Amino acid sequence: MIAGTEPIMLPIARRLLPENHDVIDGRLQIGGCDAIDLAEEFGTPLFVYDEAHLRARCREAVEAFGGGVAFATKAFLCSAMAKLAYEEGMHLDVATGGELHVALHAGVPADKLVLHGNNKSLSELRMAVDVGVSRIVVDSFDELDRLESLYAETGVAPKVLLRLTPGIKAETHDFIATGHDDSKFGFTVSTGIAEQAIARASAAESVQLVGVHAHIGSQVFAVGSFAKAAKIIADAAAGWGLPEMSVGGGLGVPYINYERAPTIGDWGRTVSDACETAGVTADVSAEPGRSIVAAAAVTLYTVGTIKQLPDIRTYVAVDGGMSD
Ligand SMILES: *Cc1c(COP(=O)(O)O)cnc(C)c1O
Repeated sequence: MIAGTEPIMLPIARRLLPENHDVIDGRLQIGGCDAIDLAEEFGTPLFVYDEAHLRARCREAVEAFGGGVAFATKAFLCSAMAKLAYEEGMHLDVATGGELHVALHAGVPADKLVLHGNNKSLSELRMAVDVGVSRIVVDSFDELDRLESLYAETGVAPKVLLRLTPGIKAETHDFIATGHDDSKFGFTVSTGIAEQAIARASAAESVQLVGVHAHIGSQVFAVGSFAKAAKIIADAAAGWGLPEMSVGGGLGVPYINYERAPTIGDWGRTVSDACETAGVTADVSAEPGRSIVAAAAVTLYTVGTIKQLPDIRTYVAVDGGMSD
């Protein structure tokens, strides 16, 4: 529990559950499956995803941002999820060779994949260039050096976006805010580094610079933060005629009863209005992760030990791990 907050002793709000759920005779049904039957058949702890809910969110993202929109796979990645997002017309963001491998193994074509990360190794970059990923989002000058040495080896100049750090402090937990200047990610706009990076990548033979990118953090409920970031990176790229721009991911999702979040559609409208006002002519895209998958899932546990402390608290132990 976070200091200063009290647990809210209410039943979980129905709107926090997967879209296609029901409660019949006191038993939770998800996508037409009885939760207790699932627990008996597969054992607990058990992750249960509502497939129709996942597909609906992917379609909403494609509707809001167009076909270049990417599912950020770190929010939930297995072969079935990679295949589902691809089937619904999304690209997939992968960071690390492991995620790249899972997406390819799931049958997602390399030209639907975007490689991210602030510390891509030479071998990860080589793998991405060899299989022909659609875009590499370059995070640092070190990475531009690595791509130069790869070009000398392969003669292939991949399409890249540059990740810029717009200096926006997203209203979220410090550990998941990534758009402020003191961040391990990207080329900082306020210091002039972003401009140097755009100039270097534009002139380089080793990469084809197609756009700029920003990802300001996760669990961001104020969609105005995305509009601000979009304006800052659009201004930084102004004059370079780059055809693409990405505002990253990070749209917040409610986990507890009092939280409310904008929809993916609201987010898309805010971003496109801001880009129109800023005179952006580039194709604008995004990378939702959490907002695609979080509410589609529940974890089923079995209650084990119960410890009652009269007048203090009752502890109910379940069979999940510390990570839950
Ligand atoms: C994590 C991440 C995302 C997705 O963030 P969510 O909060 O899951 O929407 C998008 N882009 C990048 C580069 C990320 O690291």
